Amino acid sequence: MKIDLRRIYRFEPAPSSEDGTLPRGGDIYYECKSCGDIVSSVAFHQVACGCGNLSGAQGAVTARDPAGVTPLRGRLK
Ligand SMILES: [Zn+2]
Repeated sequence: MKIDLRRIYRFEPAPSSEDGTLPRGGDIYYECKSCGDIVSSVAFHQVACGCGNLSGAQGAVTARDPAGVTPLRGRLK
């Protein structure tokens, strides 16, 4: 079952790391610019966005095309 995280969290843009890599953390999420899906940056269970740009598990999510990802900070509503 797919959960729409937008119903649970309020998202705001998260600053990129100084070295240009995507930030990571328990409150950091990645929005795929291609398909619009949002996944946790530290997902423990297997995750992937609809188009496959974002995928990961075990606390590490990677992007095939990092430029196609918007890092967001999520706060519970
Ligand atoms: Zn995608």
